[in-house]
Amino acid sequence: MSSKTDTDLLSQATDKANAEVLQSVLKSLCKASEECRKEASKHLLLSTSTRTAEKRKPDDSSAKSPSTSKKQKAEETLTSRYEKCITCKQVFDIEANDDNACVTHEGYLEMDPECFPDDDQVTYEPSSIDPYTDWRRKEWPEGFIWQCCDRACNEEGCLVQAHIAADAPKSRAAQGSWSRKAPAVIDLCSSDGEEVSDEED
Ligand SMILES: [Zn+2]
Ligand SMILES: [Zn+2]
Repeated sequence: MSSKTDTDLLSQATDKANAEVLQSVLKSLCKASEECRKEASKHLLLSTSTRTAEKRKPDDSSAKSPSTSKKQKAEETLTSRYEKCITCKQVFDIEANDDNACVTHEGYLEMDPECFPDDDQVTYEPSSIDPYTDWRRKEWPEGFIWQCCDRACNEEGCLVQAHIAADAPKSRAAQGSWSRKAPAVIDLCSSDGEEVSDEED
């Protein structure tokens, strides 16, 4: 045996495994162990009371019976903590979601043919090029322009809002302080540390 401990090896193996494998491992662990199930629930579930009321401690998940009467407005209902955003398509943490969390573009991406004067495909078969997946995009991002804001495809998004969960109950989405139709507050001075993923794949 090498000098590596089991813990090190397991950590490395975890890094190498893909999401599907890890999901499957976690599910089996949760099936086999009550303790594991509780621990996983702490990380992956939220009770709606945590989000509607002023934040309780995250570990205050004493919601043992989700059988609450409908009169109490969704008091102890459990829900996923991580959701996929319908706007940016990224998975986000509901606990960390705020009005600046989701940075995307409202408009569509177009290739600027003038940036590729010597490219036959651009000149003669422009409709055969999908600007979202085209190989040129990585090498010449300045040749791909968002129509909403005239920014190049590698620049920060112009639409800044909160993430919206794909399966968010309508009431929740409506209650939110954001709306897709409302003019977005464009905060150009916000930290541009967040890389916007505008890939459609
Ligand atoms: Zn834009
Ligand atoms: Zn988003």
